[in-house]
Amino acid sequence: MPEFRITFLNPPFLKNYSRPQRSPAVTKSGTLYYPMWLAYACGAAEKAGSGVDLIDAPADGHDEDYVSRRIKQFGPKLLVAETSTPSIHNDVKVMERLKRENPGLFILMVGTHVTALPAESLALSAAVDAVAMGEYDHTVTDLAASLSRGAGPAAVAGIAWRDGEKATTNPRRDFIEELDELPFVSSVYKKFLRIENYFNANAIPPMVTITTSRGCPFPCSFCVYPQTLMSRKARYRSVKNVVDELEYIRDNFPHARSIFFEDDTFSINKKRCAEISGEVIRRGIKMQWIINARADLDYETIRVMKEAGLRLMCVGFESGSQQLLDNISKKTSVDKMEEFMSNARRAGVLVHGCFMVGLPGETKETMRKTLDLACRLNPDTAQFYPIMVYPGTEAYGWYEERGYLSTDDFSKWLTPSGLHNTVIRTESLTPKDMVKFCDQARREFYLRPSYIARKAVRMAADPDEMRRTLRSAKVFLRHLLTGSDVA
Ligand code: SF4
Repeated sequence: MPEFRITFLNPPFLKNYSRPQRSPAVTKSGTLYYPMWLAYACGAAEKAGSGVDLIDAPADGHDEDYVSRRIKQFGPKLLVAETSTPSIHNDVKVMERLKRENPGLFILMVGTHVTALPAESLALSAAVDAVAMGEYDHTVTDLAASLSRGAGPAAVAGIAWRDGEKATTNPRRDFIEELDELPFVSSVYKKFLRIENYFNANAIPPMVTITTSRGCPFPCSFCVYPQTLMSRKARYRSVKNVVDELEYIRDNFPHARSIFFEDDTFSINKKRCAEISGEVIRRGIKMQWIINARADLDYETIRVMKEAGLRLMCVGFESGSQQLLDNISKKTSVDKMEEFMSNARRAGVLVHGCFMVGLPGETKETMRKTLDLACRLNPDTAQFYPIMVYPGTEAYGWYEERGYLSTDDFSKWLTPSGLHNTVIRTESLTPKDMVKFCDQARREFYLRPSYIARKAVRMAADPDEMRRTLRSAKVFLRHLLTGSDVA
């Protein structure tokens, strides 16, 4: 084992807290994300010569005592800890304990929250030595190299760090262009994680989550990754590198049933969608996959992806009001959404639709328009939720400037049971109005007789669909019938 060791930690918090997702929470559908960005950085650090360990405490059900023992045993010099807005105070407390027990340990916090608020995050506790701003794979390897030479963090780009009493912010780091140079994230999962732990209600379990690109060029005001970790410029892995990883997954996780391409938007470059699909078909890889897509794909692109294994697209339709779509810079139209849905249906690919309320300018009438659109588009599944805004996004600034945030205590971004909490209001709607509407929207959407009949037919025809639906239905049905908390 190399001399310089690094522990990558998704810290203990609530059971099944899905910290790495865009809106971190315990989810109604039981979704639990892979600690994908930590795992990428872990792979990069190992490739650069460090000894590494990766602990996903919420997924494995590990508490602080377990983490403390494992860190003692492994003896890292650097701890890289993922954080999130709602868990930031918990995460800092965990860091304080680990620092007390390991005074020589250098602690680096990473993630969207500390990227947006580096100085404020450092100020939370002297236990935190530095925070990474943005994508951090190479930040960690540079920091490790610097610490192992005894040089400290002063010359490491992409961090803010504690320089005695004051916080010093180093220059930002360029985003990685050569994504093929990063090791397969699935090879890191194989070493440290149990793929059965992770779940997305849209994918047949067990699933493996990877990305084929980073960043998204669209300006949606609420979307946190492009505005913090990954940039508004799309960067791509080569087709060969992506399909090589699919072969690796097929050979190393023979029991995996699906792949989730967790790119911000897999479908930005339609030519590339077709090229990846063509290469998957040419190599004879038989796997089901799901993607995040915009509602602008043509029939032919969806058809060729379907032939290559595409099962489902997660699509942010967001709102049925054109004005509100414009207000959040979604750069799309209701007409395009209708055309996209008809293309998806014709190609036989499922769609999971995301709908939000509480957007700038939202009223009871526009919320109703959104539910009407959802029923008209009729995706295979749909989620309705009040918009969640996070530091670092334009949307957060919009609500904050107008006094439309009900609190500045980030722990209130969750209800006491860890579900999303609504902390925003609009000119005419209270959080309660929005939460009640979303409960009602879920009931109206899912309890339509035509929907229930269609679902029953699909489950009867497809055992995988039956398993997936039953697993998510256990948690989801309870929420559907009892409604949501409003803290
Ligand atoms: S298109 Fe999707 S991924 Fe891109 S900024 Fe908009 S919401 Fe985010």
